[in-house]
Amino acid sequence: MATMAGNRSKNLEQPLESGKSSTKKTIAIVQARVGSTRLPGKALRKVQGKPLIGHLLERLSRATLLDGIVLAIPESSVNDELAHIGETYGVQVFRGSELDVLERYSSAARTYPADAYVRVTGDCPLVDANLVDQIVGLFWANQLDYARTGLSFPDGLDVEVFKALLLFDAATLARESYDREHVTPFIRRNAAEHSDVLEHDRDYSRLRLTVDEPEDFDVIEGIFDAFGHNHFDFADVAQLIETQPQLFVANQHIVRDEGSMMGTGQKLWRRAKNVIPGGSMLFSKKAELFSQAKWPAYFSRSQGCRVWDLDGNSFIDAGYMGVGTNILGYCHPLVDEAVKGVVESGNLTTLNGPEEVRLAEILCEIHPWADMARFTRSGGEACAVAIRIARVSSGKDGVAICGYHGWHDWYLSANLGHDTALDTHLLPGLNPSGVPTQLAGLVRPFEYNNLEQLHSILVSGAVGTVFMEVQRNILPAPGFLQGVVELAHRYGAVVVFDECTSGFREVLGGMHLLHGVEPDIAILGKTLGNGFAINAVIGSRKVMKSAEATFISSTFWSERIGPAAALASLAAMEAEEAPQRVHAIGLEVRKGWEQAASVAGLKISVSGLPALSTYSVTGYDGPEVKTFIVERMLERGYLAPPAFYASLSHTREIVQTYLSDLSEVFRALAAIDPGDLSGFLPDGVAQSGFGRMN
Ligand code: PMP
Repeated sequence: MATMAGNRSKNLEQPLESGKSSTKKTIAIVQARVGSTRLPGKALRKVQGKPLIGHLLERLSRATLLDGIVLAIPESSVNDELAHIGETYGVQVFRGSELDVLERYSSAARTYPADAYVRVTGDCPLVDANLVDQIVGLFWANQLDYARTGLSFPDGLDVEVFKALLLFDAATLARESYDREHVTPFIRRNAAEHSDVLEHDRDYSRLRLTVDEPEDFDVIEGIFDAFGHNHFDFADVAQLIETQPQLFVANQHIVRDEGSMMGTGQKLWRRAKNVIPGGSMLFSKKAELFSQAKWPAYFSRSQGCRVWDLDGNSFIDAGYMGVGTNILGYCHPLVDEAVKGVVESGNLTTLNGPEEVRLAEILCEIHPWADMARFTRSGGEACAVAIRIARVSSGKDGVAICGYHGWHDWYLSANLGHDTALDTHLLPGLNPSGVPTQLAGLVRPFEYNNLEQLHSILVSGAVGTVFMEVQRNILPAPGFLQGVVELAHRYGAVVVFDECTSGFREVLGGMHLLHGVEPDIAILGKTLGNGFAINAVIGSRKVMKSAEATFISSTFWSERIGPAAALASLAAMEAEEAPQRVHAIGLEVRKGWEQAASVAGLKISVSGLPALSTYSVTGYDGPEVKTFIVERMLERGYLAPPAFYASLSHTREIVQTYLSDLSEVFRALAAIDPGDLSGFLPDGVAQSGFGRMN
């Protein structure tokens, strides 16, 4: 059924003499572990009452040219069950490094000496003993250094044979993490002269008999069930394909060997989308918003402005810094110490945590017009609390809004009937499905800096709240904010300034302090706990007292970590002059962007508060440019979309290095014609916006 092809050594010209060499010893090492990212515990999954790894060992032991089988598994105790199975099936069990598989492999080989080793991976339960014999026979008959099955075989029948010395050389010399994880790439590169590839005479390259994803398991189970035993070889499977092709369809969409090109975070993200609608809790953390295939998606730890992914790669966060939360930098010692103190003494009991009282007092001291505060965990909740209080206070349901105010019904109802109403208010395309249609018409957006439009909404008399972001992308026109307050009050409306994101970026407290304008309610969040969940709704006594005339209450709003983190963050922000400094850092970054663009010959336009800056490149497709920059900056060790949320951990040195790396990327971009850019994005273009582009 198969022939040697490809890079033949001259010995192959001689008649092939298949069969076991009398003097040469060949041992198969099967690598397996319980902790797979894509399908945890796959080797232990049972088919016909037997774990997959048991089927594999049983099938492999039918090979006649092997002198032994070693199951090489990680040391960690979660793999004990695998060890037990190995012993049950009468093979040698070797335990070694979990992540440095090459090390595990070579140590297993030193423990069980042989002249050559056959590599089989634990995710191939349909390993074919005849094929193993065939390739081992050819290997010795042709005096090769390395031989393997080619791509015409299905994914999952892969077998490699190599000389022991090559394995030991690789273990000593290979440095790249890819080489260490995948065991044989280094060997393949070094055995090129005396290597060969066994090909099938038919092309089965699209067939998947490996187990990486849940759909793979379904296919394998179907095959075993069709035979009712495990004494079949690939020739039998090939016949089954003719008679029952439907058994092989479920995993056809999975791309061969893509796992070896994917980071652990990418694999986990794929799993996440299967069990978490939308993949994660926050839209802005969707991996596809940055890159279709390269964004690391998950972090293992963080410090300052550095983030480590699940594979231990470290990146400078030159982008969203925890979506605007970590103004002091990740893991700020004072904030973390306060939180640890709470963890040690208890976070939530039957009684209240005292920190919330002090926090309310301090926020009212910082904002002298405010007398009272309520706390929530997320910004959307804070907005929902604020709108309830404002509606009770004004006695009217109608709301005029400007900006983004979270995911709740009251806000999304603005998009009922025509889902473009909120398009210019941060996120385009927000889909209001599931929001009761009876809410339509209650919430009416107005443009920033457009007092006339606000006036026309207020004049209807149905609006009791003006709910707006004080400043996000553009500066308020002279008199605009004051005009909003005066107009609103003239029509009996409560003014809510949502400073969830803008707060603390230029002044300790809300931006409205800088503009000298006083609302009735303000919302502060994001930076308030430097990454711990806490948002505040502060307001005048008259308006805030309305909270007592309605029901606003939630168990976890009473936990202590948020207020304790906020007290520590406030102290640190004040002591380290965080608002003024992040403003200055933001200005420096903007200047650097402009310079880098002009040197490269690009035209960019910059917007946002200096501490929350974004840019776009004129003349190029926005999502394509974002993808290009994100992917090129990832290669250089940055999480860097076309945005920069400044934190105190962005030192001058880090900013300068970032700008110099970005300059290179700008130059590379400038060398590409806008119409050709998609050709430089082999994995496709990152997503942008919400619903309609989703
Ligand atoms: N209001 C504003 C102004 C915001 O920027 C945000 C978040 N970006 C929210 C409300 C919602 O906050 P959260 O995501 O914490 O619910």
